[in-house]
Amino acid sequence: MKILIVDDEQDVEIMFLQKFRREIKSKLLEVEFAFSGQQALDLLSQSDSMDVVYVFSDINMPGMSGLELLENIKSKFPQIQVSMISAYGDRENYNKAIKSGAKGFFTKPVDFDSLKNEIAELLTNK
Ligand SMILES: [Mg+2]
Repeated sequence: MKILIVDDEQDVEIMFLQKFRREIKSKLLEVEFAFSGQQALDLLSQSDSMDVVYVFSDINMPGMSGLELLENIKSKFPQIQVSMISAYGDRENYNKAIKSGAKGFFTKPVDFDSLKNEIAELLTNK
């Protein structure tokens, strides 16, 4: 199963690769990274090579925000599940994300146990 992580902070790549090392090694997960909303959309548009089923995106990014990315994905790739992460547990972004069809909403620092639970849920429903 392929997932896409979107965050303007490049060091999340190292963190995710560490946290999902076992799943990646056993080929349970393939993890791709994008560092802006536009880059994420470009990756997803390269269709069949990018059969992403789940996107985990930061909300606060320069350029296209995570919420804008969420709306774009929901209209262009409605089959993809999207969860959002924000540095702040603010209710306004939470409400917007859920209204736009987000699967989950996380606050930083990422609780990797609940993220893994959400991904495990997607794996069983596959
Ligand atoms: Mg950010």
